[in-house]
Parts: sequence; structure tokens; C-alpha cells
Amino acid sequence: MSGTQAAPKRPRRCPICGKPLAAGQRFCSERCEQVDLGRWLTGAYAIPAGEEPEEDEGTGGQA
Ligand SMILES: [Zn+2]
Repeated sequence: MSGTQAAPKRPRRCPICGKPLAAGQRFCSERCEQVDLGRWLTGAYAIPAGEEPEEDEGTGGQA
């Protein structure tokens, strides 16, 4: 039996500070969440006004 190639469980990490996250968490703390939000507001993530493409880029590839 060699069918033990289960998908590797990668611990999710805070995209802001890189700390490991608990299950269900998107950020390690409210502060990091605010930081991420701030990035959006400051245009770090340029969002084209008007039509917004509905493209979900998976989860777990945020550099
Ligand atoms: Zn964090």
C-alpha cells in the first residue's frame, strides 16, 4: 500500500507578518487585517473602476 500521498497540509500564514494562522483565520490579528485593508485603500491593489472581473485566484499563493 503506497497510497499515502495525501495533499500536504500547509499551515496558512498571515500575509502581513507571516505568522502561522489558526484554522479559519485570515490574519493573525486584527492589526494585520487592518494593515491589509489599508493596502487596499492606498491602492497597493489597484482595482480598476467599473467592471470587476470575477476571478478567484485560489487560496494560498499570496507572496
Ligand atoms: Zn500578522
